[in-house]
Order: sequence, then C-alpha cells, then structure tokens
Amino acid sequence: MTVGGLVEHNFRMKAVCEKCCVALKVDLVTIIKVNGPEYSLVNQRAPCRDYDCNGCVLPP
Ligand SMILES: [Zn+2]
Repeated sequence: MTVGGLVEHNFRMKAVCEKCCVALKVDLVTIIKVNGPEYSLVNQRAPCRDYDCNGCVLPP
C-alpha cells in the first residue's frame, strides 16, 4: 500500500530499530510531503534516530 492509502485509512504506523529496539512513530504526512502519496514503505529502511545508534528502523 502507498503512503497516500495509509493516510486515507487513518493508518498509524510504528517502526522499530533492529539494533536498540527503540520504537518510532512513522510520520506519514511528512513522508508524503517528501516523497509523494505514491510512495510505498515496503522494504524501506530508515536510519535510527537515536544519536548513538547506527541501526536501521523497519516497519513491522
Ligand atoms: Zn537504534
């Protein structure tokens, strides 16, 4: 599903870091602003936001 579809269904997403296990809220509105509503989160990885962690956060 695209991020546009997720927002349409009021889907709330959380991503978890594979290294430090911190849970981050996925800001779908910001993702749409940056990547457009056709963007898909499938297989996307984002760097962990924790300053000391170099892991990746993954959508569950
Ligand atoms: Zn982390």
